[in-house]
Amino acid sequence: MPNMSKSEANIEETVLEIDLNALAHNYHFLKSKIEPTTKMMAVVKAFGYGSDSVEVSKELVTLGIDYFAVAYAHEGEKLRENGIRTPILVLHSLPGNFDIILNKCLEPSIYSLKILKEFIAFAEEHQQKEYPIHIKFNTGLNRLGFSEFDIEEILAILSKTKSVKVKSVFSHLAASEDLSEKEFTLTQIEKFTFYSNQFIQKLEYQPLQHMLNTSGILNYPEAQFDMVRTGIGLYGFGNDPKFDIHLKPIGELKTIISQIHEVPKGESLGYNRAFTASKDTKTATLPLGHADGISRIYGNGAGWVTIHGKKALIVGNVCMDMIMVDVTGIDCKEGDEVLLFGGNPTADSIATSAKTISYELITAISQRVNRVFKRKHKS
Ligand SMILES: *Cc1c(COP(=O)(O)O)cnc(C)c1O
Repeated sequence: MPNMSKSEANIEETVLEIDLNALAHNYHFLKSKIEPTTKMMAVVKAFGYGSDSVEVSKELVTLGIDYFAVAYAHEGEKLRENGIRTPILVLHSLPGNFDIILNKCLEPSIYSLKILKEFIAFAEEHQQKEYPIHIKFNTGLNRLGFSEFDIEEILAILSKTKSVKVKSVFSHLAASEDLSEKEFTLTQIEKFTFYSNQFIQKLEYQPLQHMLNTSGILNYPEAQFDMVRTGIGLYGFGNDPKFDIHLKPIGELKTIISQIHEVPKGESLGYNRAFTASKDTKTATLPLGHADGISRIYGNGAGWVTIHGKKALIVGNVCMDMIMVDVTGIDCKEGDEVLLFGGNPTADSIATSAKTISYELITAISQRVNRVFKRKHKS
């Protein structure tokens, strides 16, 4: 007879539960770290760090967020199509996206003379007046941004057009979470102050200045300027245990046990026979795999799941749609609930045990996983 006993899980498949009250809590915590007059830009790129950019953004609008940032134009387009009317900065604008940017009233980051000239040409062609753009300076990350030697030319180009207007000047820190790099970070802040002031002095108006990401807010609040850009903090991670305790991870990834196997000593399990039982082993097969965002790096004991409060290591290779975990000695059955990450353990602790970072694990959770929205934590 099949086991018809009632499942202990209140879910029936893999879900990512998003706690909007935890988001509010994190928002208020980060707000408390900056001056009341400092604006806050929420970074909702990569599907809101793997949660859901639309629902998260709607909640942040209710909370009073000043600005959004996305990496790419189509991420901003999605927000517009779902009724978000707050200004949206596109951190990595590309010439091929200018039409989306203009059509959806998105605001491009301008990081090179080439893209400045091309955007101005596009804006003029479309009869734009004072279209908001954001000038990005490179101060040491060496990824995107103008150098100080471009300042005169940017100003010369801007002086010849009315089609665009600089809404902000910004830069990005390379190691704001790493206090052993404090000297480097302070140099970046100094450079930004110098470049942006030099630039702004020669404009006839006052754009916003901003530089800090989450760890910047927490470690260098003196450099908050007019606005801060927070991503990971809103989702519940402070890149340091001393900040993590004040934040609440908003996402909880859960699944259920599909099947239990008794693997006798000496038998192998999974693809490429990566695991061989050194003793009689009980395993549970779970309905999520690397296509859901559980990378192969979590296989072979690097990652684990939690079942009835007990740790069960991932055994063998992670498959596309499944993982197997060692549940020897854990009282569990098919249909029982399994926690991948949430408040305890956090995505950060699972990621760290596999030598990666929370950012990578949470943003990887694929669109195949259903998102469910809750209001769990009391703020
Ligand atoms: C992603 C990103 C951020 C947000 O960083 P967090 O560490 O998640 O707060 C801020 N600024 C820029 C330019 C970014 O690319």
